[in-house]
Amino acid sequence: MPRMLDVSDEVRAEIGDEEADRLLAGDNAPGSYDCTSCRTPGDSEREPTSTVLFIGDETAVLAFAHAGCLPSQVVQVTEEQLQGAVRSIGGDIPPGAPPPPP
Ligand SMILES: [Zn+2]
Repeated sequence: MPRMLDVSDEVRAEIGDEEADRLLAGDNAPGSYDCTSCRTPGDSEREPTSTVLFIGDETAVLAFAHAGCLPSQVVQVTEEQLQGAVRSIGGDIPPGAPPPPP
């Protein structure tokens, strides 16, 4: 299996060896994701991908980015910014979009 996912030591220290290894093994890999930097779609199975851990006041969120956009790193953010990041990463249906067909 190709290892396209990069988990830096910094990120590994925060999420723990077990979680880092799970990610690298592909169990928790996102597959396709929206790059947290350039917002365009990426695919962790086909493109070099960096894990980026956003740490807020109370919660932490693991996000993904093209390796060419951001290196794997830990980013300290405010809780407010974290919520914004979660929203953008979650790929919620934008307001006004028609409901999905049944
Ligand atoms: Zn990107």
